[in-house]
Amino acid sequence: MRQARSFIPALSVVLAAAILPGPAARGDDAAGGVRRDRIEADVRWLADDAREGRLAPSAGWAASRDHIAEAFAALDLEPLGDDGYVQAVTVEGDLITAPKEGANVVGVLRAPGGATEHVVIGAHFDHLGLDPETGDVMNGADDNASGTAVMLEVARVLSEPAVRRRLRRDVVFAAFDLEEHGLLGSQFYVDHAPIPIEQTTAMICLDMLGRSVMDATPGRLVALGTETSRDLDAAVREAAAASRSELWRLSTDYVGPRSDFVAFAEREVPHVFFTTVPHRDYHRPTDEADGVDFGSLTEHARVVAALTESLAIAETRTRWSGKNVDGLAEAKAIEAMTATLLERAASEDADEHRHRISGLQRLLLRLVHGHAKRLVENGEVGAIDRGLLVLGTFAVVLGVIDDDPLKTILGALRRRLGRQRPGR
Ligand SMILES: [Zn+2]
Repeated sequence: MRQARSFIPALSVVLAAAILPGPAARGDDAAGGVRRDRIEADVRWLADDAREGRLAPSAGWAASRDHIAEAFAALDLEPLGDDGYVQAVTVEGDLITAPKEGANVVGVLRAPGGATEHVVIGAHFDHLGLDPETGDVMNGADDNASGTAVMLEVARVLSEPAVRRRLRRDVVFAAFDLEEHGLLGSQFYVDHAPIPIEQTTAMICLDMLGRSVMDATPGRLVALGTETSRDLDAAVREAAAASRSELWRLSTDYVGPRSDFVAFAEREVPHVFFTTVPHRDYHRPTDEADGVDFGSLTEHARVVAALTESLAIAETRTRWSGKNVDGLAEAKAIEAMTATLLERAASEDADEHRHRISGLQRLLLRLVHGHAKRLVENGEVGAIDRGLLVLGTFAVVLGVIDDDPLKTILGALRRRLGRQRPGR
C-alpha cells in the first residue's frame, strides 16, 4: 500500500515548480533534459587549441571526429557510416578546385516501433585550421563547436528512455565535414544518403548558435528556411514559444546558400537553419570558447530539442509547401535587430572591438532600420520593398558587422578553390 502523502513532499513539489524554470519543471520532456554543463564541456573540448582548428587531415581534426563518434557510441546510436559512424567524404577536384577528403560522422536513433521516416539534425564540425598569416589556431568555438555541441546534447536528451519511447520516426544525427570548403560534407551525405533522402521529413541545420549579432542580441535565435514548409514553420514557432529564446524568422534569401541545409533544400526536404548570425570574431582566431554566451546557447538548445522531438512524434510527416515568404515577420526581425545594434553602439559600455561603429556605418544602419520600421508600420511588404530590405541587410552584415569584409570574402574563395597555403 502506498504511504499517504504528507504535507512536506507536497510543499516541496509546489516550491520546486515555482523555483525551477518552466521547461525543466516539466520533467521528462526533451527540452527539459537539456544541460548547460554538457554543452559547455563539448564546446570547450572542440574549441581547444589541441584540436588545431579541426581542419582535415590534422590530428586535432581526427580527434574531433572520434570524439563525436564516441559520444554516439555511448548513446548506442546505430552507426550509419561506412566505417562505424564515419562516412568517408571524397570530392574530386576539377580544373579550378583541388580534390578534398574528409569525414562525416553519422548515427541514427531508432524509433522503438520501427519507422519508415526520419528527421535529420546536422551541424558541421570542421573549421579553418591555423591562421595562414600568424599560425594562430582558429578555434571556431561559435563556428561551429556551438552547433555540434547542441546536436550532441539533443542526441543525449532524445536517447533518454522516457523520450525515446514516444518517437514515431527515427532521428539521424550528423556531424558534417568540409562545410568551410563549400558545404561538401552535407552535399556528400545527400548524394550518398545511408537512408533514402525521400524518407527525410525534415532537416534541422545548426550553424553558429553561440554568440549573437555583434554580441548585442543575446537570447535571440534566427530561424531561416521555413518559408518552404508551413508545417515546419508552425512547429518551429511552437517550440520557440515554449522557451525563453526570442525567435527571428527570415527566409534563406537573407543568407544565400551558406550552410548545410542547402543540399537538402535542393531535394525539397523541409528545413530550418538555426543561427545567431555574425559577430566580429567570425572566421578570426578570436572565435574562442570564452566568447560564447552559454546561457543563450542552452536556451536555444532547448528550442532545438523540443522541435526535434515534436517532428519525430508528430502523427503526420512535415510537408514541403513551396516558397511562401512572410515579409512582415522578416521586416519585424530586421527592425528589432538594427534597433538593438544602434542602441548598443551608442551605449556607454560599448566594447570597442565588438560594438564600435563609424559614422558611415551608423548611417547605413539607420537607413535599413528606417526602411524596416516603415514596412512594419504599413503592415505589408511589397516585392520591391522586400528586395531592398534583403539588400540592406546584406550591406549591414558585410559593411557594419564584419570589420574586414574583403578578407572574409577572399578567405572563403581561397578555401573553396583549395589553394590555401598549408597551415604551419
Ligand atoms: Zn564558418
